[in-house]
Amino acid sequence: MHSICIANQKGGVGKTTTAIHLALGAAWSGLHVLLCDLDAQANATSGLGLEPSASTPPRAQPSGREGLDVLFLGRHLQRPERDVRSVLQSALPETGFDLAIFDCPPAFGPATDAGLDLADSVIIPIQCEYFAMEGLTQILSSIQGSERRRGRPLDLLGILLTLYDPGEAVSMEVAEEVRRNFPEAVFSSRIERDPKFVEASSFGKALYEYDLSSPGAWEYLLLTREVLRDVRKQAGTQAV
Ligand code: ADP
Ligand code: MG
Repeated sequence: MHSICIANQKGGVGKTTTAIHLALGAAWSGLHVLLCDLDAQANATSGLGLEPSASTPPRAQPSGREGLDVLFLGRHLQRPERDVRSVLQSALPETGFDLAIFDCPPAFGPATDAGLDLADSVIIPIQCEYFAMEGLTQILSSIQGSERRRGRPLDLLGILLTLYDPGEAVSMEVAEEVRRNFPEAVFSSRIERDPKFVEASSFGKALYEYDLSSPGAWEYLLLTREVLRDVRKQAGTQAV
């Protein structure tokens, strides 16, 4: 199983939206996927129309979509980092899943640290807004902290430009600045601002299920393809 952590300490940058669409996109491509909701607000769980209930010990629940299960950690997330990490670790099934996606909360803290510590790779969604670079520097140093704790590298799968608005100068400027500073690390797929995301989540649906022909749905399917290709290349195998 390969695990991908979706992290950024800022809220509203598209972490949960990315986690949901990457998880469901990978499930659609035939993988067995576990979406781990590491945010006490349970946005990933409720965004798929599911009831956020965390059992003790936490157990994955079927999402009602083929190939996709959801694990919500709920109150287990309130504990110190070491405990959150061990709860997550013991809740991760040893077999049966090809891919786990961790949706982190919008803050540094025990849950984000646990996600970074246990993941094989990380995706950083950033909103194309002022101060995006500052936030990026902070999360990159948090990744380095995690690498020291765990004693092995954490692969930066990519920086994902989200909420991109082609009509706004700031979107273009930020995208250019990020690509200039991290030429290798930015996904070529980019997610534009699409009001259908909010509509879809209010119905407890992914955008694929609500309006597959909308631009946002296509962009996330392209991202899924890019991510799975990179993961396979990195793993040097077709296992994922
Ligand atoms: P985070 O998990 O980083 O806090 P979310 O994924 O929950 O961010 O996104 C914050 C809000 O923005 C949500 O209401 C979500 O539906 C909306 N949103 C996310 N991505 C987009 C997008 N590309 N276009 C328009 N709205 C979006
Ligand atoms: Mg979120």
